[in-house]
Amino acid sequence: MKRVIILGSTGSIGKNTLRVISERRGEFSVVGLAGLDEVRELTAQAKSYSAQAVALAQIPKGRSTRELKKLGKHFFTGADAATRLVAKTEADICLVAISGAAALEPTLAAIEKGMDIALASKEVLVMAGEITTAAVRAAGVKMIPVDSEHSALFQCLAGVSSDEVENLWLTASGGPFLGWPVTRLKKVTPQQALAHPSWQMGPKITIDSATMMNKGLEVIEAHHLFGLPAEKIKVVAHPQSLVHSMVELVDGSLLAQLSEPDMRLPIQYALTYPERRRRKSPRLDFSRVRQLEFLPITVKDIPCLELAYRALVAGGTAPAVMNAANEEAVPAFLAKKLDFLGIQKIVKDTMRELGASPVNGLGDIKRADAAARKKARALIKARKK
Ligand code: MG
Repeated sequence: MKRVIILGSTGSIGKNTLRVISERRGEFSVVGLAGLDEVRELTAQAKSYSAQAVALAQIPKGRSTRELKKLGKHFFTGADAATRLVAKTEADICLVAISGAAALEPTLAAIEKGMDIALASKEVLVMAGEITTAAVRAAGVKMIPVDSEHSALFQCLAGVSSDEVENLWLTASGGPFLGWPVTRLKKVTPQQALAHPSWQMGPKITIDSATMMNKGLEVIEAHHLFGLPAEKIKVVAHPQSLVHSMVELVDGSLLAQLSEPDMRLPIQYALTYPERRRRKSPRLDFSRVRQLEFLPITVKDIPCLELAYRALVAGGTAPAVMNAANEEAVPAFLAKKLDFLGIQKIVKDTMRELGASPVNGLGDIKRADAAARKKARALIKARKK
């Protein structure tokens, strides 16, 4: 049985991972679960999957963790709870689905312990791509993407050598506002931005999809996973979200991976890799697929996407700065402290003020992340709605 740790088990990807594991009784044992602050959900999960180690980053006021503590042989709490859980637990694979920068340190801890990584948290590679990929090589572990686009690329690249690849094409649903004029974008409410046309996801990534920062983060993620330069990673809008991404080969062939949008497919593939297993899944119904549309995207027309390409080319701390500013701007927008167009403005201004410095170690990333958050918060405060 493969021993699995799930970091971010109470989120959307985490819950889907547990569903995949339930569908495959006898193949996996859940040895560790880490959540943010959802005591009840984590307790229920630990109970039904008999996890021996549980971690909770925050304990909400007035909530008792007595039942949770009784269940797990090991209970960790605090900001570094997930990292300590990983350090104290033996597992074969660690699925990382913690939202945002908090995913970085526990991922590095899991790599150091020799666990394979099923990576859903793109921020890990955005913030510390070189450090993480070097750690993966040094430890001799596998890093398998869970993000649907990268899983598609990973699947298409099986059996393809790197000198045969011309371009990677990331597909983008475009979010709910593709093609909207600025005058309309100004008035976008959190409620409108949270209604994603094709995927059910957590609030942070849904807003990132609406601004297309999510696609920007994915471009950087693809660069680190597959080793191609920025100019060979392209984005095309595909509103149906059935083609999950494509690999263009040097002879002009395009390889694509298609399926109904269902995160359980890339999750299962990451967990069972290098094997592919049968699953009862909704199949693409060609009597219902009337058209597959592809619309060219002009990067300079989409500010968050352009910022991400710029950060990737600048390198060093620039992607970490961009990510941190965005992680501050998105909750401010959700809390109505910032307008929709304010998100890109805050990210852009934070990047301009902090620039890019070289990265010699994790400390440089952490300092850039902290400085960018501080700067972004000040800019948010100063921006009049
Ligand atoms: Mg994605």
